[in-house]
Amino acid sequence: MNVYGLIGNPVGHSLSPPMHEAGYDALGIDAKYVTFEPPKDGAVAAVESAATLGVRGLNVTIPFKEDVLSAVDPDPLAARIGAVNTIDFSTDPPTGYNTDAAGVIRSFEHHGVTLSGRAVVVGAGGAGRAAAFALADEGVAVTIINRTESKAQKLATAVTESDTIGNATAGGLDSLDTVVPDTDILINATSVGMKEDRSPIPQAALHGDLAVLDAVYSPLETRLLREASEAGATTIDGAWMLLFQGVEAFERWTDESAPVDAMNEALRANL
Ligand code: NAP
Repeated sequence: MNVYGLIGNPVGHSLSPPMHEAGYDALGIDAKYVTFEPPKDGAVAAVESAATLGVRGLNVTIPFKEDVLSAVDPDPLAARIGAVNTIDFSTDPPTGYNTDAAGVIRSFEHHGVTLSGRAVVVGAGGAGRAAAFALADEGVAVTIINRTESKAQKLATAVTESDTIGNATAGGLDSLDTVVPDTDILINATSVGMKEDRSPIPQAALHGDLAVLDAVYSPLETRLLREASEAGATTIDGAWMLLFQGVEAFERWTDESAPVDAMNEALRANL
């Protein structure tokens, strides 16, 4: 039996075990997905121990996504983003990927959204970094907006100076009123709206030509998505991003096409 898993602290009530195990069941793969909670300074030791124990793959969540970089060989995209959320132990050293980036791209593709024109990414933490690099690599002109504007500036510089075909600029939350009306794609990559009825985007800036992805998945219909839907926009909830980062990891580990419908059903049944 193959073992896959997740390291995080706190690892909490994770949706990844049922999602991945539904994928193994659908393809008849003999595997188990387990969660581990190493101490906060234990990321590297956890990766080394997993390798020793023959674990096939690990997902990585807060606070370890940067810490594990020194224990893996990051692929070029993960190295540019500066964070790893998926480790494949079939290589030595293990390979680190950032499948949050694919989670963003595949969510839009699944909903028939063309990745071109302009995008606004609100948030410059882990999810914002992955979204900004992913969209710039598709040739999209990205504006990164963050509460702490200096972090948005730093990220925009990193994206523009990296090996990408798009580019990035930055601004503070007060520029949302002016940039969102000219935007095709909007991503909320902040925690605003999580377990609260609050949106990071002024309602008046939303419009019907937008495709909006909210990385927040609890609740599934955030205030941002409700108001975007009322404005006639295409809306994509955070469970899609969670699904497709998992699908991408599943495919890296197993070399099989993931059973997306089975994984999606299991994920949503456990939300
Ligand atoms: P993070 O690294 O801690 O970044 C948090 C971001 O939210 C920062 O940009 C922060 O701005 C901003 N923020 C926090 N409170 C705010 C407020 N009151 N007003 C405005 N901005 C605020 O977190 P993360 O890992 O990027 O996660 C961000 C969100 O995405 C979380 O809700 C997480 O659950 C979700 N997420 C979803 C997926 C998925 O697959 N669906 C994957 C990853 C993350 P400052 O820099 O100014 O502090």
